[in-house]
Amino acid sequence: MTPAEFDAAHLWHPYTNVVKPGPTHLVRSAEGVRLTLDDGTQMIDGMSSWWSTIHGYRHPVIEKAVKDQLETLPHVMFGGLTHEPAARLGQQLLDMTPSDLTRIFYCDSGSVSVEVAMKMAVQYQFSTGHPERTQFATIRSGYHGDTWKAMSVCDPVTGMHHLFQGALSPQFFVPTPSVKFGEPWEVDPAKNGLAELARVLETQKTIAALILEPIVQGAGGMYFYHPEYLNQARRLCDEAGVLLIFDEIATGFGRSAMLFATGHTAIQPDILCLGKAVTGGTMSFAVTMANDRVTDGIGNGEPGVFMHGPTFMGNPLACAAASASLSLLQDGKWRKRVYDIEMQMRSELAPAKDLPGVAEVRTLGAIGVIEMDHIVSADQAHPISKELGVWLRPFGRNIYCMPPFVTSPEDLSKITHAMVQLAKVL
Ligand SMILES: *Cc1c(COP(=O)(O)O)cnc(C)c1O
Repeated sequence: MTPAEFDAAHLWHPYTNVVKPGPTHLVRSAEGVRLTLDDGTQMIDGMSSWWSTIHGYRHPVIEKAVKDQLETLPHVMFGGLTHEPAARLGQQLLDMTPSDLTRIFYCDSGSVSVEVAMKMAVQYQFSTGHPERTQFATIRSGYHGDTWKAMSVCDPVTGMHHLFQGALSPQFFVPTPSVKFGEPWEVDPAKNGLAELARVLETQKTIAALILEPIVQGAGGMYFYHPEYLNQARRLCDEAGVLLIFDEIATGFGRSAMLFATGHTAIQPDILCLGKAVTGGTMSFAVTMANDRVTDGIGNGEPGVFMHGPTFMGNPLACAAASASLSLLQDGKWRKRVYDIEMQMRSELAPAKDLPGVAEVRTLGAIGVIEMDHIVSADQAHPISKELGVWLRPFGRNIYCMPPFVTSPEDLSKITHAMVQLAKVL
């Protein structure tokens, strides 16, 4: 059997039907922004491998860091032991993230970092005299991962988990913030979505935390909303004794034009989840950060120890990759790159607005979206975008790109051209 034949017969892919599998391309190698397929075809990766390879593939700085680490300490358990790459990465994270966040928990993947954040919130409430606070509030159209607790706060309708509804912890869903990013703020709480949030936080005394994706809702619908919603949400959480968790797994590390989407606001979360681009797409890794309120609350209460500790926590190879990736952001050059990407996408995607079937075109940072008025098929998109030399994977109603920050203007034009072509035919 060839690798492709074996794959078709035996491997399971994300969100696919093994009985009726869609087209799957065999990738031989990747370099910069390009994937090379087994048949020699090259495709520009408009997806950054699910929003992670912000510096492109095989960046020499990250590659060297991982190779060097492999030769000294590829892995060691984190229970009772520590290492230099963990401390070095921690310092970089402290320097980059909102100042209140002083404690860092290393995780294996984004979903795990959400699980950890939610566990922290419940344990904080338990330790500070509120054992009844075990549930969560969240906004509709969100996405927080595929594990059980993370799934329970994904949008029950647009989320991909509705069939599990009966098996999930019931949570409190409030309306998606109605004021879009860039539009004037609407002060009337009945119209901006805050009235329902205020009501839920005030009346439901079982809520431990409000969890949401700040500014950009990613896999739940690629929607961008007004930062003032978050300033007000912070106030409402404080009044209700509820923690605020920001899931910046998608938005972190420059994607929304700020280093973190929190930078669009005037406030800070109590707990922050990071993932996806943290290693520059080199390997799976994620981070949960907390402020002193959370860490002191947990540490000074019973049982004091935070009850979580994955086998591969703080893996040195992943820490080395993440540290190298963050060092590449530290010169700040990503800002102009992301700005230029946004400006170019804005002008090149604009013509799609007038196409039949297109509901809205929007851009923010290095995120470009053509939202259709109907569901589009990723399987149908694949051969078309491959033909155009671009890798795109639409979902729901959205044909979108999140290109690597190092994408050249010429390559970006090919990506936007492919998106507009897809909007014409899908
Ligand atoms: C991708 C994503 C997750 C889940 O991360 P995984 O690494 O896939 O487990 C959680 N939250 C958000 C906002 C994401 O975009």
